[in-house]
Amino acid sequence: MATSARSDSQSTGIGIFGLGVVGSAVASAISTRHNADDSSIPLNVVAAVVRDTSRNRDALIDSSIISADPGSVIANPEIGVVVELMGGVDPAFDYITRSLHAGQHVVTANKEVMAKRGSELLATASTNGVHLFYEASVAGGIPIIGPLMNDLGGNKIQSVRGIINGTTNFILTKMAHEGSDFDDVIAEAQSLGYAEADPTADVDGFDALYKISVLARLAYYTEVPVDVIHCEGIREVHAKDFRYASELGYTIKLLAVAQASEKSGVLARVHPALIPLDVPMASVNGVLNAVEVEGDLVGPLWFQGPGAGPNPTASAVMGDILRIAKGVGSNGPASKTPEPFEIASMADHKCQYYIRLTAADRPGVLANVARVLSDADISISSVLQKDTDIYNSQADLVIMTHPARESNMQSAVSSIKELDTVVRLDSLLRVENYGDRS
Ligand code: NAP
Repeated sequence: MATSARSDSQSTGIGIFGLGVVGSAVASAISTRHNADDSSIPLNVVAAVVRDTSRNRDALIDSSIISADPGSVIANPEIGVVVELMGGVDPAFDYITRSLHAGQHVVTANKEVMAKRGSELLATASTNGVHLFYEASVAGGIPIIGPLMNDLGGNKIQSVRGIINGTTNFILTKMAHEGSDFDDVIAEAQSLGYAEADPTADVDGFDALYKISVLARLAYYTEVPVDVIHCEGIREVHAKDFRYASELGYTIKLLAVAQASEKSGVLARVHPALIPLDVPMASVNGVLNAVEVEGDLVGPLWFQGPGAGPNPTASAVMGDILRIAKGVGSNGPASKTPEPFEIASMADHKCQYYIRLTAADRPGVLANVARVLSDADISISSVLQKDTDIYNSQADLVIMTHPARESNMQSAVSSIKELDTVVRLDSLLRVENYGDRS
């Protein structure tokens, strides 16, 4: 008999939505564990739901329990834990909601539904006295949600900062190490299976955006909707920027950051950033993920590991299923909000900037740009002049600023583009603040 939310018994009945990359690995992990009889908490997959029942499946699962009928899982009295591994908002939100109302616990790896509708789902779980766990939805195999929800609960979290998209980290690492441009590397990432045929969700930052929204809600007891998070992808980062950044002592990574102070509120942002070569984040390469958490009691913490892939993601899903089967854990701070933070504006964010311009190679150009920056209350920290093109009388001008407000920089950039000595503004990148290094 299955353990349900409503009863205690010896076996936990599982229903799975989705037998793709992650669902197959989870079904196989449950089966291997069950067959090896290596557990005092038996798990039993009772039903699995897919779109196309005619497809051959790699999963170690009895094909007779696979169907396209969501009713085989939702409210099935044999099923105490529903595992949602389909992805997207529709129909995942509906299936999760109905399962929670039916008194079934839910485990999901779905960052998009947890970012866009997570608060509603957590409230539904709470109302129905069941668990909704989602460790696999952020950073794959790295346990980050559990620590934020449980172990770090006594801390004021100052910041959560990470590389939480493996595809873009693979692309940026290749660009940094091989001097290649984005268009060449994306094709290679696709051929190796590290990027989707349509890479938009990854390269334009949306995947990281969903994940940082989920982490920010946990860290700050505050709803940080995806549409208030500043989001820039990596399409505008060029091979030259890695070369110049390296000369200045930096590399470039796609960072997702949530930070808060009582004065300014919570700011969440996703964008490529220059980071100093000597901080650990600079050495997180390829498809690896890493998250730094800074808490007032614990200080800085570092989590690193595989952020995706069938088995690492199954590891996180299995951990959630077993926590439910063992009867431990809570849904975290969704319904108790000590002091929700205000949402801070990106316009007030302050950091150093890296600016790369193509400019006329003649006297006075730098003075013009410096005047525009100075008018916007921005001072220059260093300047490089590179790649002089004597035929066209042009050169690359790379400017590092001292810390400046985002709104000041955006207005300065508009004016710089108007200067007749500036051919074009090629790159504007933020420099991530690592304490006294900046
Ligand atoms: P996937 O390989 O595309 O598999 C999706 C599965 O869901 C397929 O079996 C599909 O059925 C089924 N499905 C889709 N829509 C359905 C519907 N309307 N009704 C019934 N079944 C439906 O996706 P995945 O890579 O395993 O990802 C699953 C979830 O895990 C997503 O939320 C993803 O963000 C998350 N995640 C993935 C990874 C990773 O490394 N892949 C890492 C962390 C988190 P068919 O097989 O019949 O098409």
